Amino acid sequence: MENSINPAKPIQRVLLVIAMHAEAMPIVDVLKLTQADSAIFPKGVPWIRYTGSLEGLFDIDVVVPGKCPIFGVDNVGTVPLALATFAAIQALQPDLVINAGTAGGFKAKGACVGDVFLATQVAYHDRRIPIPIFDTYGIATTKCTPVPNMIAALGFKEGNLSTGNSLDMTQQDEQLIKSNDASIKDMEGAAVVYVTNLLSVPAILLKSVTDIVDGVRPTTEEFLENLSTAAVALLKTVVMALKFVHGKTVTEL
Ligand code: SAH
Repeated sequence: MENSINPAKPIQRVLLVIAMHAEAMPIVDVLKLTQADSAIFPKGVPWIRYTGSLEGLFDIDVVVPGKCPIFGVDNVGTVPLALATFAAIQALQPDLVINAGTAGGFKAKGACVGDVFLATQVAYHDRRIPIPIFDTYGIATTKCTPVPNMIAALGFKEGNLSTGNSLDMTQQDEQLIKSNDASIKDMEGAAVVYVTNLLSVPAILLKSVTDIVDGVRPTTEEFLENLSTAAVALLKTVVMALKFVHGKTVTEL
């Protein structure tokens, strides 16, 4: 199926892709979205779609990669979100994808718990391929869809996002995160941008800070403690972003 993205057409359908239920459900509840049947996805996959609209103004779908059938936890990380995003774009043909989620933040870059960052650029920190050209291919630094008017209107903090499949950070990860000049670190963003670029769909990444990576507290403890507060901050930001998007074309964002 071919996507027919027209940058001059007002955005009529937004797809939110979200890794964790704890991040997605406040948004689903406030927007009064309902669970759709999953016939758009291959039979048996755990991916879930919620659908509805923003106050009847335009169509919204929230897709989460669901729970791992073996371990019963949320399917976090690059592969589940890339696959679910790919399938959802093919089926729903959104005008815009928003990857909303949580992230670790770097206080050296001005991040505080509860801040929501808009990612201006993504890169990986766990794809080390020390062969010429493959090394830069592995890092895959990619600019996100520019949204200067949204940033000016809503006052978002901006920063580079670095993605890897681990919640913690090895010394090698840390070096690459620094060379990626990252303000925030997550487990999905760069993979979502890979898919949206592949299918030529604009994408916005909104990441709410649950933990301070260069702080003193253990990441897991801080993450679990702040997840619900960060999810509320994320919800508020997503609603503001959706209202801003309404009636605009991608080039007006
Ligand atoms: N135990 C958690 C597991 C979530 S993994 C649970 O309750 O289900 C962490 C998730 O939050 C990922 O989706 C990731 O994108 C994001 N995240 C938050 N802080 C992070 C950090 N410091 N590094 C990487 N990812 C982080």
